[in-house]
Amino acid sequence: MPRPIHATFDLAALRNNLAVARARAPDSKVWAVVKANAYGHGLLRTVEALASADGFALLDLEEAVRLRDAGVRKPILLLEGFFSLDDLAVVVEHGLSAVIHGEEQVDLLVAAGFPARIPLYLKLNTGMNRLGFAPDAFAIALERLQGCRMAGEITLMTHFADADGERGVREQLQRFTKATRELTLPRSLANSAALLRFPETHADWVRPGIMLYGCSPFADESAERIGLRPVMTLASELLAVRELAKGDRVGYGGAFVAPRRMRVGVVACGYADGYPRHAPDGTPVLVAGRRARTAGRVSMDMLTVDLTGVPEAAVGAPVTLWGEGLSADEVATAAGTLSYELLCQLAARVPQRDRE
Ligand SMILES: *Cc1c(COP(=O)(O)O)cnc(C)c1O
Repeated sequence: MPRPIHATFDLAALRNNLAVARARAPDSKVWAVVKANAYGHGLLRTVEALASADGFALLDLEEAVRLRDAGVRKPILLLEGFFSLDDLAVVVEHGLSAVIHGEEQVDLLVAAGFPARIPLYLKLNTGMNRLGFAPDAFAIALERLQGCRMAGEITLMTHFADADGERGVREQLQRFTKATRELTLPRSLANSAALLRFPETHADWVRPGIMLYGCSPFADESAERIGLRPVMTLASELLAVRELAKGDRVGYGGAFVAPRRMRVGVVACGYADGYPRHAPDGTPVLVAGRRARTAGRVSMDMLTVDLTGVPEAAVGAPVTLWGEGLSADEVATAAGTLSYELLCQLAARVPQRDRE
């Protein structure tokens, strides 16, 4: 018997979440962001379930080629563009679209001279200060691209640093508007947070990621309230149940000390499965459909839960670590991280299944 842990992917939830994105940005086309193996959900299953998206955005050239090899004919956007002439050849061969965020990429395009036109996304740095051109350099890069035989349609883009936070998008949107005012080219700005909160950012293409997977980009608004449904459910079972006397310790470092007589359950899930090792005592878990809390350090293959509120729970009781009935957002918050990280960290050793 394999360990009882598994991850289930609710494909209907994926489709529901895409429909939410479309309903909130009805006049925009949608790049479904499927980078990082579709935020841990499996690239091919996700793209298949989201076949009605207008295109797929990711980072990794090999993932893009994998999609083409699987028969995906929709646009595929490389969010960091190409890194070398060899990459550029692959971009041409597979008809990919590419973000241009730096001069080196413009140089490569101008010098390469493949007999093909590549749809390009020219990225303006409006304040994130990771990738993209400063406004002056942006204008120069655009001029160079417009004179370049390999440049297909050019879309103007930027990426928001705080669409989910207090600063919002105002300052970055102002900079973007100022730098692109005279231009009549298509535009793409919005991640999930901007899509949901700032309709003025929708433009021609939106780029939702996290919301497609059923998580909220916001600390102050739940996924459920937005109408999103969790796609990944990480579930396991109780391997053992034990009675503790007051003062008994649990797990490595004896970090949890029983404050009274109590029962704890041992769950077949640990950090080698992708559960966050830093999740503190009290991180929520569902046991037999009821809420319980972790108690003691997360170890590699197991974690322990306080069964005080679930007296009927016995060996074999089902446990949900996150997903249906317990949002990954809530678990992430308790563990001091984001659902993004939890989803991406799902370990390869966890068996996966689809649910239609
Ligand atoms: C990851 C990413 C997105 C999607 O962001 P979410 O917050 O997951 O919606 C959009 N645009 C770019 C450039 C990205 O890198």
